[in-house]
Amino acid sequence: MKPIISEEIRRLLACPQCKLPLRYDEGYTCVACGRTFGQTPFGSWDFTMRYPEFLAPSDRRRWRAGQDAYEGWFKTFPPTMIMRSSFASEIW
Ligand SMILES: [Zn+2]
Repeated sequence: MKPIISEEIRRLLACPQCKLPLRYDEGYTCVACGRTFGQTPFGSWDFTMRYPEFLAPSDRRRWRAGQDAYEGWFKTFPPTMIMRSSFASEIW
């Protein structure tokens, strides 16, 4: 089941890389760079950036280490807490 984001909020969504609008179809796609954004295993939309191609190899390793630390911290929250109290109230 796809979480519902109101049309008012959809118009405000932007690509975290380009800061340009996202097109909605089955998921969200940046109108400029073509990045796509899908859902997390918990069912919420995931607008986080994946591997940034513009970084030098040494910066990519540091970025990956930071991303891994953040994702590890994020997984310490129970799914019901993430869905109900953290994010869902921000988009409804
Ligand atoms: Zn983009």
